This record gives sequence, structure tokens and C-alpha cells, in this order.
Amino acid sequence: MDSAAPIVAASAQADRARELLRQVFGYDSFRGEQEDVIGHVVAGGDCLVLMPTGGGKSLCYQIPALVRDGIGIVVSPLIALMKDQVDALRQAGVRAAALNSSLGPGEAVAIERAMREGAIDLVYVAPERLVTPRCVEVLSQSRIALFAIDEAHCVSQWGHDFRPEYLQLSMLHERFPDVPRIALTATADGPTRRDIVERLGLGEARVFAAGFDRPNIRYSVVPKKDAKAQLLAFLTEEHPNDAGIVYCQTRRKVEEIAEFLALKGRLALPYHAGLEPATRQRNQDRFLKEEGVVIVATVAFGMGIDKPNVRFVAHLDVPKSLEAYYQETGRGGRDGLPADAWMTYGMADVMSLMGLLESSDVDERQRRIERQKLNALLGFCETAGCRRQVLLGYFGERDHPRCNNCDTCLQPVRVWDGVVAAQKALSAVFRTGQRFGVAHLVDILLGKASDRIRQLGHDRLKTFGVGLELAKHEWQSVFRQLVAQGHLAVDVEGHGGLYLGETAPQVLKGAVAIEFRKDAEVERRSRRERGARPAAPPGGAFSSEEEALWQRLRARRLELAREQSVPPYVIFHDATLTEMVRRRPRSLGELAEIPGVGKSKLDRYGGIFLDELAAG
Ligand code: ADP
Ligand code: ZN
Repeated sequence: MDSAAPIVAASAQADRARELLRQVFGYDSFRGEQEDVIGHVVAGGDCLVLMPTGGGKSLCYQIPALVRDGIGIVVSPLIALMKDQVDALRQAGVRAAALNSSLGPGEAVAIERAMREGAIDLVYVAPERLVTPRCVEVLSQSRIALFAIDEAHCVSQWGHDFRPEYLQLSMLHERFPDVPRIALTATADGPTRRDIVERLGLGEARVFAAGFDRPNIRYSVVPKKDAKAQLLAFLTEEHPNDAGIVYCQTRRKVEEIAEFLALKGRLALPYHAGLEPATRQRNQDRFLKEEGVVIVATVAFGMGIDKPNVRFVAHLDVPKSLEAYYQETGRGGRDGLPADAWMTYGMADVMSLMGLLESSDVDERQRRIERQKLNALLGFCETAGCRRQVLLGYFGERDHPRCNNCDTCLQPVRVWDGVVAAQKALSAVFRTGQRFGVAHLVDILLGKASDRIRQLGHDRLKTFGVGLELAKHEWQSVFRQLVAQGHLAVDVEGHGGLYLGETAPQVLKGAVAIEFRKDAEVERRSRRERGARPAAPPGGAFSSEEEALWQRLRARRLELAREQSVPPYVIFHDATLTEMVRRRPRSLGELAEIPGVGKSKLDRYGGIFLDELAAG
């Protein structure tokens, strides 16, 4: 056989993949490892793809499914996820369907017939359905291009989303040994990854691992003063019309904050496990299908939320761990446009985390692991360095440069030598018997002779009034950082009093160097004054005229979406509308050049948006 033949075939397939990228999806070039993954799968290879959220995993199996003969079968854990993907594919002119429990019997039969006849390109299937004898039979009567196993971490007990049904997917390889399999996940950690390989029988599969950075997300942590007012200021200044998520720890707080924001004129809806399922569903639907909805939620919200234009994720309480934080904030900015991850954080948060740790009923080894996780989280909150470096370092990417897109990079934090202040604070703790809280201790340092202090005789202590060089909020910050650094501990079973940590004697002796970060003053600066965001649309912020046009295009998109009852982003992504505003295309040819405008969308919506652009 001519040894050049496979190479020629491979390059023809690569051309075909690029053509589909342009025609169907409207994009010019592949991102990162997409092209390599696609080439590998098209050639019939198995693989595991580790890519961050928003990295572009879907194309890695959608394009091979179109290039290869037969149907692409996509295993996906959630009906909502499938529906979104199928809607988006249909808009792009791809023949796609979902097989899940939401179908009527007639509908399922019709899809199965289309599969046998090869009259469909991509079928999304729930895992429990895929392994039924009926479905396996249909598969064996159809021509299959590939199996894609999305959210593959669901197979692992280590992950937070373990799905027992995923375990049975190992049978795919046994039943259909010649069909390539591609497993995809955004979960990075080693144990989960090993589990996926082992349980899905992917030992021979090639691994494609992209970095986990989300460069378009800007991380900021602000010291908590008046959390509600801080949240409102953040929303008003940074995201007056944007959709986003506000996470709170308790249901009560969710209700309270949603009500508060609604009173302030925001379209804010609550979401937590205590709401009626119908209400919850409706609120989630509105978040997806309307523009500018703020969802206020407990962590019950988020799994399976694929809305690309979530512009901010705000935490009013600290998350459980850095893993949880990364996952929750990762729901912002999937479309690659700038998004904010914003958190308020204070002493009460530290105490509640410590409380969770101490009261959890686990063995010593487990407790040690949890303490390390807690320390990592506190370290992230209190760092004076680049937050992204801390985050990525925690996930194993150690040599990331400073990011210039987090609060500490944009507004470098000053650190100060805190040995003397630490000694004063620790000695106040020690001399009062290691059982008082921060407020009382700060009063002593500042020499405030309250009734309680006089009654207790604390106004006669040597430390009384020795801390006048710092203001009240600065002392609070010192105590918080001493706890974060482990020199102080919190008695969570008692009344939240502080006691000396193991390292405190060293600090008191002056044998340890101590640095504190100086909390940034909560400055009010307008968006324009802030550093440019690397991922900001080319040319920076909109002019007011562009802003008006953008609003028009958005409104038109919403109308079109409502008519078809699909989310607006399956019509066009924000990035695509933004480019329309910038480039002002005047013809279908010019419009087709804009990323995200494929052939099918050009035919359906091209005229409508050109009219809108001409009128604007
Ligand atoms: P993931 O599943 O990894 O979270 P998606 O597949 O949903 O990510 O893709 C995220 C976003 O990136 C989508 O808006 C998608 O249309 C866009 N995208 C993917 N690949 C490309 C590309 N090659 N060029 C431009 N945009 C892309
Ligand atoms: Zn940074």
C-alpha cells in the first residue's frame, strides 16, 4: 500500500475539520489543543481531555462527530445541559437530539429511527439510559462515529458529583471496541483523573491536559465591613446590567439578600434547596433565558449551569474550600469575555470555617487534610501576592507569572513588619486568660475603658492602651491574619474566644518574622480608571453610542430567543454581538466574518441583525 495515503487522508480530514469550524460554528481558528484532540479522535483514537471551563471542550467531540461517518453519541449527566447543547447545535444547523426521560414515547422512537437510518449527527444520552438493553440494541443497529463522555469526573467517588450510572459506561468499550471514546472534564486533580482512566478503561488513551487558568476572570477579595452595602456598590459600579451569581451560606441569607437587591431595583431571584421545586426551576429558567438576572443562591445552585455570559460570581460568605471556590467562580465568563470573581471576607468567616472543621466528625488523618485545605483557603484570602498564583499553585501549576488581572496585581498590597503588633495582640490574649473575642481585645489595645473592661479589671493590664498606633479596623485585620497564620486559634465550642496557637510563644519571643498585609482602603474608582482587562473586547469599553447599539442588539436577540423559547445565547453569544457593534458589518459577507456567525445563523438571522445595525 502507498504509505503516503493515510497522511493525505489525515490532511483532508484536517481541512474538513477547519471548514466545519468556519461554516457551522463561525470561528476562524482552533483554540489551544482543540485541533490536536480533534485530529486524534477523527483518526479513531481514545482520549481524555482535561480543559478548564470555557476552554472549548464541546467542539472537541462535535467536530469529529461531523467529520467521521456515523453518529456522535454524547453522554451527559443533566437534562438541562443536554437541552442547551442541542438547542445551540440546531441553531447552527446540526442535526442533534437528546434521549432522556423528558421525552414522550413517540419522540424517543422517532429519534431511534433517525439513528438507525443515519439521519442524525449527534445524540445526547443520559448515562442510565445509554446502558439499557433497548438503547444498546439501537446503537448496535446504527453506525456510531464516537462516544463522548462529558463531565467524566462523575465516574469518580472523589469528585463532588459522583454518579453511579457512570460506572457502567465501561461496557461501551467492551460492546463497541472499534468506536473511539473521548472523555472530558474540567476537574484537574490527580485522584479524580486516575479514577476516570481506570473506571472507564482508558489506560491506553492519550491525555490532553490544558492549563487550568481562567485568564478572563478577575479575582478580588475585599475585607468585610458592611457586606450588603459592599455588594450593592460592586454591582452598581461594575455590573449595573449584567447577569451573575451571588453565593451565600444559608437559605435565610439567600432570601434576605435577594429581597434587598430587589428593593434596590435589581432583577434578583433566590435559589436554594428549601424552595418549592417549581419555584426553583422557574428562577433558574429565568436566569438562563432573560438578560441581566442576578441569582442569589446557596451552593445548591450551579451544577449544570452552562450560561456563557455570567459576568460575575460574588461570594458573601467564604466558600468551603479552594476547590469549591474555583468551581463556583468558574461559572463566570465561559464565553471568554471579562468576568469578576468577587468575595467579601472577615473574621466571622474564619470562625465559621474553623467551627466546621472542629465540629466535623472525622478521624485525625481526615481532619489534618481538612485543616490544610482550610489553611490554603485562608492563605488565598490573606495573600499579598497575586491571587491567581496562589490558586494555580494550589492546583499544581507552580510557575505562573503575576497575572495583572487580580486585585493584588492591579493595586499592589503593601505589607508591613508586624512583629511588634503581633506581640501586643498575643499578649492581650494571654493576659486576659485566652477566652475573649476580638472586639474586647481590640478595646483593650486601644485603651477603651468600657464598663465591662473596668469590671473585669482589664484597664489595669499592661497591654491596656498600648495599641494606639493602629486604628480599630487595623487591629481587627491583625487578629484575622494571626488566626490565618496559625498563631491564634478560635475556641468555637465556647464563645468564639481566641487562644494562643502552638507557634505563639515563638512570636512572643521575637523568633519568627511576621508580615501583615495592609487591607486596601475600599476605594471607589470608576470602571474606566481601573486597569485594562486583558480579555476586554478590543478597543476597551464601549462609547455611549456603542452601548446603545449593543442594548438594541441584545433586545432583538431576546425577542428572537423568546419566540423559539431558547436562551438568548444560543442565538448569538455576547462576544459575537460585541464584535458586531465594533465592526458594524454592512453586508452578509461582512457579517459572516464575525466569530460565531456560521452559515445557518447567517441565513436565519443575518438580515435581521443587519437591519438592526443599519438602524442603529
Ligand atoms: P467548555 O465545555 O470547555 O466549558 P465550551 O465548549 O462551552 O466550553 O466553549 C466555551 C466557549 O468558547 C463557547 O462560547 C464556544 O462557542 C467558544 N469557543 C470554543 N471553541 C472556540 C474557537 N475555536 N474559537 C472561538 N470560540 C470558541
Ligand atoms: Zn494577579
